[in-house]
Amino acid sequence: MEITDLDDLAHVRGMNDGRTFVAAQAARQRWPIRRPAQGSVRARVELGRLLADCPLPGCGGAELVSRVDKEFYCLACGMAGNDHYVMAVELPEEES
Ligand SMILES: [Zn+2]
Repeated sequence: MEITDLDDLAHVRGMNDGRTFVAAQAARQRWPIRRPAQGSVRARVELGRLLADCPLPGCGGAELVSRVDKEFYCLACGMAGNDHYVMAVELPEEES
């Protein structure tokens, strides 16, 4: 089965890739996006989507991630609890 990731969502929205999509969303909230990645998060497949749960305290958000970019940025909290740094994504076995 084809698994939808963040890049697929970006393409549906007419954008080149997931990173562009996330940058646009974060800019609307005036959240910075900092790199390089600080920390990591494990992705999972749920209902055909490649997701990662935000590990930051008190958030509980989950976001699509790109299997190419392997970068996590939560659009629920803007990674405020991680000083706005992205996190590295560890892909599940079948997606890596
Ligand atoms: Zn979050």
